[in-house]
Amino acid sequence: EAKAQGKGRRVTYEPALDQHSAEQARTAADLRVALDTGQLRVYYQPIVRLSDARTVAVEALVRWQHPQRGMIRPDLFIPAAERTGLIVPVGQWVLAEVCRQAARWRDELGADALRYVSVNVSPRQLRESGFAAQVQATLAAAGLHPRHLTVEVTETAVFDGGSGLEELRQLKRLGVNVALDDFGTGHSSLGLLRTCPVDVLKVDKSFIDNITDQGEHSVIAEALIGISDGLRLRAVAEGVETEAQAEVLRRLGYRYAQGYHFGRPMPADQLPAHVRATAAAVS
Ligand code: C2E
Ligand code: MG
Ligand code: MG
Ligand code: MG
Repeated sequence: EAKAQGKGRRVTYEPALDQHSAEQARTAADLRVALDTGQLRVYYQPIVRLSDARTVAVEALVRWQHPQRGMIRPDLFIPAAERTGLIVPVGQWVLAEVCRQAARWRDELGADALRYVSVNVSPRQLRESGFAAQVQATLAAAGLHPRHLTVEVTETAVFDGGSGLEELRQLKRLGVNVALDDFGTGHSSLGLLRTCPVDVLKVDKSFIDNITDQGEHSVIAEALIGISDGLRLRAVAEGVETEAQAEVLRRLGYRYAQGYHFGRPMPADQLPAHVRATAAAVS
């Protein structure tokens, strides 16, 4: 919120801002229809072990298959959904779909083929009272063990107060894993890592982009793997696009990564072949 409405926007921009919110209202109304008529899709992106590029987990990423506009990426509709509250039913749909899919893959690939499926949870969803209980019910309905699910939240979502932190603690007690997404870009403090029950740190792409350059560009990525190791968290480097970046990450001590270099988000039906191929390349 602070980012979107901060310094850059002043009085002179108000008309544009109005237009913007009218547009968001329209998007939200369309999205309601999309949800009710089955236009949403979930894609899955590999999370790999850097030592051998084997896919060990996946992140679920929602898409909107619009009848006229084609495939719409979440950056174009999640903010509107968040503002209007529609993210709550959308997020619940995604969660249920992901849990059912993860249970199918467990049966198809074996329980340990994928350690977990990760799902993004927005601030509004997390703060919705009874969120953890709803996750528990959804897991039970799908017959999925909580350890096969990871929820990805941002620092800001947890830090902004409300019941977010309590919901996370409850999820942890159930056995669900917690990941801090886009780590390092939010406005929290490192102290959050002590109060928040975290398993996974997802190091934001912005800290990975320049790590192959000369000089100081890998300093933050290096500091974050140090913190992560010290606190016994698993670090996942986000947005890895080249083998050169993967090599620097290995040298820094990173064990897990995600990015176009290893695999793009794909429809569920393509994932088993992908997982088997990366496993076969290893053994
Ligand atoms: P995120 O959770 O940080 O997800 C990673 C984003 O980076 C994804 O974009 C992914 O496709 C993209 N990405 C992965 N590897 C690379 C790479 O090597 N290069 C580049 N340039 N990009 C890469 P996507 O799918 O467009 O999602 C954008 C954001 O939308 C997500 O960021 C997440 O914050 C949000 N989102 C996606 N699905 C959901 C959902 O089901 N619920 C909620 N609340 N938010 C979602
Ligand atoms: Mg994420
Ligand atoms: Mg991320
Ligand atoms: Mg990100």
